[in-house]
Amino acid sequence: LRVTFSIIQDENEDMSGFITVLSDVTEEEKIERERREFVANVSHELRTPLTTMRSYLEALTDGDTWRNEDIAPKFLSVTQTETERMIRLVNDLLQLSKMDNKDNYLYKEKVDFIYFFNHIIDRFEMNKYEQNLEFVRKLPNNSHWVWMDKDKMTQVLDNVISNAIKYSPNGGVITLETEIKDRMLLTKVSDQGVGIPKEQVERIFDRFYRVDKARTRKLGGTGLGLAIAREMIEAHDGKIWAESKEGKGTTIYISLPMMHKKWGNAS
Ligand code: ADP
Repeated sequence: LRVTFSIIQDENEDMSGFITVLSDVTEEEKIERERREFVANVSHELRTPLTTMRSYLEALTDGDTWRNEDIAPKFLSVTQTETERMIRLVNDLLQLSKMDNKDNYLYKEKVDFIYFFNHIIDRFEMNKYEQNLEFVRKLPNNSHWVWMDKDKMTQVLDNVISNAIKYSPNGGVITLETEIKDRMLLTKVSDQGVGIPKEQVERIFDRFYRVDKARTRKLGGTGLGLAIAREMIEAHDGKIWAESKEGKGTTIYISLPMMHKKWGNAS
């Protein structure tokens, strides 16, 4: 809070009153602090894969290690993984900056969310996962229409379901569910995974926030997925949040405004 006092004087320069102005600078400072933290985070996140790559490449070019048929392929594979992670990170950053510009980046259309959601789950089920997970669907049989950008919503659900898979134990159950609540379509994705400590649940939607940095880096995450998801859901006038119990599992909730039957198309 910034407090400014001004003294008002009359023509004889006698004090006739004073004005107090209280201005809220906390918001400005917060934005500036977040911007600085963001730049520091981006630099750090890019430096980590680059320094890893440098040491592996140095080792390869040292003498004739690059000729060593046991070592060379392993070292090259590390540099490949790191390069891929950097590409993912830069793509995520580009996406965030596109969203910051808010130049109408959404292409919304009328979509049957249930059909769309089923299709996304099918895609995950088709892929073979090492962890032999079970997907349980609790979805209605009839259509539920939502005015939305399919590509963006695919990205959000892909991210949420991939997280559920990543943090699930072997043989875990992932439940995918929708229900109508207060004229909103509520989607729930629940897992039986590691969970998130209570005081950190809300922070997982912050840019670069990871509960366990070392572990999630190994899993290839950028820490930007849920931050992007939140921006996209909010651009649909919806909400995304999480509930979690450590050691028991996590549920991600997404609520989206439903199209009223008589609207026909646009909302
Ligand atoms: P990342 O790319 O690291 O997965 P996200 O933004 O998607 O980034 O998620 C942020 C963090 O939230 C993750 O690093 C992880 O610690 C935590 N998290 C997200 N989803 C889950 C989940 N289903 N179970 C446990 N932790 C989760």
